[in-house]
Amino acid sequence: MYPMKKPFLYTLFFVLMMAIIAFMPLSGTVQADETPYNPVPYDEIYPILEQHEAESDRVSIEVIGQSSMGHDLYSVVISEPDDDLEQIKAMRQEMIDNPEEAADFIEDNPDFKVPFMINGSIHGNEYPGTDAVLQLIDRFAHEHDDTTEHILDHNILVFNVVVNPDGRILGTRQNGEGFDLNRDHVTLSQPEAAANIELITEWNPMVQLDLHGFVNRSDDYPGLIEPTTGPHNPNYEHDLYLEYALDQAKAMEAELVENKQDYETDLYQNMKGTHIPYRDAEDGWDDYPPIFTPMYAMLHGVYGHTLETPTNSVDGAKWHYDAVMGALEFASDNKIDMTKNQLEIFRRGIQFDHPEHEDGFFPKAYVLPVDETDPTTTEKAVNNLLMHDVEVMKADETFMADGEQYDEGTYIVPLDQAKASLANTLLWDGEDISDQASAMYDISAWNLPELWGFDAIPTDSSIDVPAEGAEELDIEGELIGEGPYEVTNSSVAAMALVNELIQDNFSVYKGKNGHFYIDSGHENTLHQVVEESGITVKTASIPEDAKELDNVNVAVLKDGGQHGIRTALEQLGFEVEEMEPPQISENGLGGYDVLVVNGSGVGDSEAYKQNIQAFLADGGKYIAIGASASSRAAELGLTDAGIHTGQWNSNGVVNVDYKDTSLTAGYNEQDIGFVYNPVWYRNVADDRVIASFADQDFFKAGFWKNSEAAQGQSVMIKGNHQGVTLLGLEIGFRAHPEYLYRMLSNAIYPGEETILTTASGMKERVERYENDGEFENSGAARALNAHLTAVSHFEEQEAAEKVIKHVEGFQDLLDHQQTNNLISEKAYNVLKHDADALIEKWQ
Ligand SMILES: [Zn+2]
Repeated sequence: MYPMKKPFLYTLFFVLMMAIIAFMPLSGTVQADETPYNPVPYDEIYPILEQHEAESDRVSIEVIGQSSMGHDLYSVVISEPDDDLEQIKAMRQEMIDNPEEAADFIEDNPDFKVPFMINGSIHGNEYPGTDAVLQLIDRFAHEHDDTTEHILDHNILVFNVVVNPDGRILGTRQNGEGFDLNRDHVTLSQPEAAANIELITEWNPMVQLDLHGFVNRSDDYPGLIEPTTGPHNPNYEHDLYLEYALDQAKAMEAELVENKQDYETDLYQNMKGTHIPYRDAEDGWDDYPPIFTPMYAMLHGVYGHTLETPTNSVDGAKWHYDAVMGALEFASDNKIDMTKNQLEIFRRGIQFDHPEHEDGFFPKAYVLPVDETDPTTTEKAVNNLLMHDVEVMKADETFMADGEQYDEGTYIVPLDQAKASLANTLLWDGEDISDQASAMYDISAWNLPELWGFDAIPTDSSIDVPAEGAEELDIEGELIGEGPYEVTNSSVAAMALVNELIQDNFSVYKGKNGHFYIDSGHENTLHQVVEESGITVKTASIPEDAKELDNVNVAVLKDGGQHGIRTALEQLGFEVEEMEPPQISENGLGGYDVLVVNGSGVGDSEAYKQNIQAFLADGGKYIAIGASASSRAAELGLTDAGIHTGQWNSNGVVNVDYKDTSLTAGYNEQDIGFVYNPVWYRNVADDRVIASFADQDFFKAGFWKNSEAAQGQSVMIKGNHQGVTLLGLEIGFRAHPEYLYRMLSNAIYPGEETILTTASGMKERVERYENDGEFENSGAARALNAHLTAVSHFEEQEAAEKVIKHVEGFQDLLDHQQTNNLISEKAYNVLKHDADALIEKWQ
């Protein structure tokens, strides 16, 4: 029936559509033989909703949050005027808490109503979703026909009207931060995803439809409606979902076909159905990762479906409208049985009774111990679990589990709870599913404990300890002793504290052990900053090898396929500027110390290449992350290493051997890594290898066919070019693997000041020191730079003797300034080292 069954066609089509959409005008699109399609602009939406609310007693609007760019997110609830919405929410909660009683109740009271949730255009440029939502709101606000009344007799309609306002305004798939929100439902790094989850946990809907575009597997069966192909996330109670989800999809399909004569174009008038991946394909459109809205909602017991309309057009919006109507009628006719299956999901969870799972698939509980010095990762984990509506307990006393003793205050996530599937999805190790499919649609491993750096120890024993329900945590840090102080290199929050102190002009040192040290003094400010950080900072002597750190200026190469590196750097507390390749070609990287490249951003010009070389010659650090950036570094001549890559969508959690270097400080010799589109390096004789994939069993969880090729291979190297670091691990991926972020701060703060060996680099250093107040007056800086200008002149002529002579003059001036207190100790030491190295270079 379907000649094109290969999963990569989805991808191909998607890439093609993205390319087409990229050229569509913002204000709407005109397609050749169609009615002009003008999607409703974002700023017209609220007035339309307000008018419905004013004219209809069925409508209530709420602002449920703001987008990353600050635009309001709207929910609209449509119900009959005498519906008691609070009571309905309470009943949904009661279903979760007491599913067996709820099952009896609905048997005796079949006239209950179910929340039915519809999300518009989480991908901003897939416009018809929100337009269909507006048409549905219009109908259900005002109409009194039999179908409308029938649906409102059984359902409360909950619309997330425009999930991604930024994207709708900008004409992008992503939000204003560059994030694909339909990949953010585990991490919750973006406010839009968080608001969406709040709406789900507020209503606990029976059905959720997520309106997308654009897919056409064949002309006879345009569009797509889930359920999906395998592999399915094994945490689901998938049998209970599927029993009605497939029929609901068919009901949507039937409604589309029944109304086909009302469409304007041939594609729609001739449709015989739509593509239902579960029914029509082997694999390639799976529900494995919980990062997509409907797949995530399924873990709340919801019948979740992604709907992909065929085209960006008037007909495309009508397609969504009809499909939603089909689902609403199906839900109205089947709500009792559908609800019973939902209740059965919750019952299985609470009673730890999983007939579809092998014994031992779900542990009895996870134990989350809290690190005394740095509790911030566990704090984040607990808060995240609570946001997901997962039940978390806090032990009131010490207790034993599997022979280990745990302190009072340890967190426990019991798996005998209604949303056990979700809890386990967030805390399990994952699995290697490389053999389960020919291709996966997206990430296949998301081990939160490992990737966020907190312990969650599964246990099959019953834990017997008095405990109370955990509440949102806001742990205060503490400054202990008289100083000097040590900040351990242990978490993103610890690094953010270090950066804040540097920006507040504290003297911060980094030891060769990778930890950070602060002098005593200004204790009032210090107390406050440390308290807010959540970290305990203890008194410790500053190691002799410790070097003082400078404020650094970090640039990130801006790239359409943004992987979250900028967000990662910002979370680490760095002040970051995004640069486009043409800016670098034109202006160079004069004011920057570090350039981070992640993704495939390309600067092709000779000027780009020269400016990168000049940046490195001046002591700049070039950090390339992942496969594309590594290949780019090789093309630019920044490394001689051979760049090898796996299939582009391979991804997962890996075991890595980390060498003992300043770059890996704060990590174990054997520790984890994360790859997406994996890369490894060969011919590394001239490089310093910092980390390799482990020699055996290195692939822990995820999807990566033929991963053996990378076994034992180098995955992090310092290139033969001194300032270049290649990180094959995808450490900033969608702001997700936070545990790995500190590789970045380690690379940026290697524990020693980079020694500069060019006069131009030193001039910039002098200028920066002047701005930082390291000189008594501007005359001192000016005098040094006059010397350096002369040095620069002779460097260009390659007149070695004259270079050396003028650098010696520069050193005399430095000594003079030091004797007369015109220069700070730090600036003096660093510039003295530079000058020594520069002389050595020309000798
Ligand atoms: Zn989409």
